[in-house]
Amino acid sequence: MSGHEGRCVEPEDLRPMSKVTYFSGETFPLEMHKVRIIQKLTLLPVEERLRAIDEAGYNTFLLQNADVFLDMLTDSGVNAMSDRQQAAMLQADDAYAGSATFTRLHDKLREVFGKKYFLPAHQGRAAEHILSVAFVKPGMVVPMNYHFTTMKQHITALGGQVVELIPPEGVAVTSDNPFKGNVDLAHVERLIAEHGPENIAFFRMEAGTNLIGGQPFSLANLRAVSHLCRKEGVRLVLDASLLADNLHFIKNREPECADWSIAQIAAAMADCADIIYFSARKLGFGRGGGIVIDDDALYRDLRAWVPMYEGFLTYGGMSVREMEAITIGLDETLDEDMINQGPVFIAHFVNEMERRGIPVITPPGGLGAHVDAARFLDHVDQRQYPSGALAAAVYLASGVRGMERGTMSEQREPDGTEPLSHMELLRLALPRRVFTLSQVNYAVDRIHWLHANRRIVGGLRWTEEPEILRFFYGRLAPIGDWQHALVAKFREDFGPSL
Ligand SMILES: *Cc1c(COP(=O)(O)O)cnc(C)c1O
Repeated sequence: MSGHEGRCVEPEDLRPMSKVTYFSGETFPLEMHKVRIIQKLTLLPVEERLRAIDEAGYNTFLLQNADVFLDMLTDSGVNAMSDRQQAAMLQADDAYAGSATFTRLHDKLREVFGKKYFLPAHQGRAAEHILSVAFVKPGMVVPMNYHFTTMKQHITALGGQVVELIPPEGVAVTSDNPFKGNVDLAHVERLIAEHGPENIAFFRMEAGTNLIGGQPFSLANLRAVSHLCRKEGVRLVLDASLLADNLHFIKNREPECADWSIAQIAAAMADCADIIYFSARKLGFGRGGGIVIDDDALYRDLRAWVPMYEGFLTYGGMSVREMEAITIGLDETLDEDMINQGPVFIAHFVNEMERRGIPVITPPGGLGAHVDAARFLDHVDQRQYPSGALAAAVYLASGVRGMERGTMSEQREPDGTEPLSHMELLRLALPRRVFTLSQVNYAVDRIHWLHANRRIVGGLRWTEEPEILRFFYGRLAPIGDWQHALVAKFREDFGPSL
C-alpha cells in the first residue's frame, strides 16, 4: 500500500447533481443557485490591457482590480455569500465577551466536527501560528502530506523541519490517481520509527492539498494515518481550509462513501484528527478561522495563546458579522449542491482546456485550474520565468488574472543563487459561486488562442527584485518585445472584438 487506496472510480465518473446531461448526450455543469446581487465588470480593450500590465511590472499581483475582467488570482476571502449568510449578518450580536454569535458558530462547529472546543482566530495562518508556538520546538519534525506556505514558515521559524510524505506521483503533472494528496503509509511508519514520537510536534494532513493543485486525500488514507498516529502517540492535525472540495471528491471518487451524506463524511474525517484548524476565507464562504479540539488539557494549553495574539476567546480577531456568515456557510458546506459548483466548474475548465491540447494538471482538483507553463512555454528558459510570462500573457489575451506558481515564487539562497521550482504553473483559481459557465468558456477560448500563438510569448527579467516575497512586490519586463507582437496578433485575429 502506498497511498493508492480507493482508486476504483475514473475521475470522469463524477455523479454530482450540479451537472446535467443534455439532449445531445453531452454533460455540462449546471448552477444550483441563482445570482441575486451582481457586480459590474469591465473588459478593457487589448491595448489598454497592455498599458495596465506594463504599469504593473508584468506582475499580476500589482494589477488594479478595476483593470481585471475575471479575477482568478485566488479563492481566499472572495467566495460569494448566499442570501442566508447576508441575512444572518444583520442579526450579529455585538459583544466583546459572551456574544450569542460566537455561541451559534461554536454550536455549528460542534455539530459538523463533533468536537467540544473552538478557539477562534482571525484567519487560517493565525491558527497555524498558535499550533506552531504551542508544539514546535527546535529540532522537531512535522510530517505532512504536503506543505502550505504559511504553515511551513511558522514551523521553520521555530527551528522545526517539515517532511513531506506524498509519493512522487502526487507532484506529477498528469496522472489518473484520484487521490494525489494521499501519503505513503510505509513512509509514515519509517519516519515515526526513525525520529521517535517525542520528536514529532504533530502530523499534519491538508485537505484539498493546495500547492499540488487542490488535490484530495481519501478517507481510507486519512484513517490509516490516524491509526498509525494513535498507535504511536503522535497528534494528528487536519488542515480543513479546503475541506469542502475534499468532501466532494471523497463522495464522488471513493466507492465506500458514495451513499454517505456530506455530513457523515465530514464527521468521519473529524473523528480521525485530534486537532482541526481552518481558514474561513475558504471554508464557510466568509473571513476568519480557528482551531477545533476535544481534549480538555489541550484546550487549556492552547487557550492561553488566543487573547495574546488574536483577541478575546469569543471573537479571536473576527468581526461578529463574519462569524454569523461562517456559521451559515458551514451549514451550506454540508449541502452537496452548494459545494459541487466549485469542483464541477473546475473539472469543466480543465477538461475543456485538455481537449484543446492545452497542458494542465490532471485529474482536475479543487481550488482552480492549473496550467503547466513549463510545457505551454517550453521554449522559455526556466530562469526567464515561464509561469510569470504566461500569467502576463493570459492577462493580455483575456483580461483574466491568474497567479504565478513557479520559480518567481521561490526565494534566492543567501549566496544569490536561484532555486528552480520543480513545477512551473499558472493557477487560475475559481472563487466559489462567483463565475458563470460562459465566463469559464471565455477564459478557455482566449487561453486556447494564446496556446496557438505561444511561440510569440517570451520570458521576463527583473527590473526590481525585492529580497523577500519577490513575487508579491517585484517588477519585471519582457525579454525582447513580445508583448507588442502579441497585441498585434490579437487585433489581426479578433478584429475590433475585445
Ligand atoms: C489559505 C490556506 C491557509 C491559510 O489561511 P489564511 O486564511 O489565508 O491565513 C492554510 N492552509 C490552506 C490549505 C490554505 O489554503
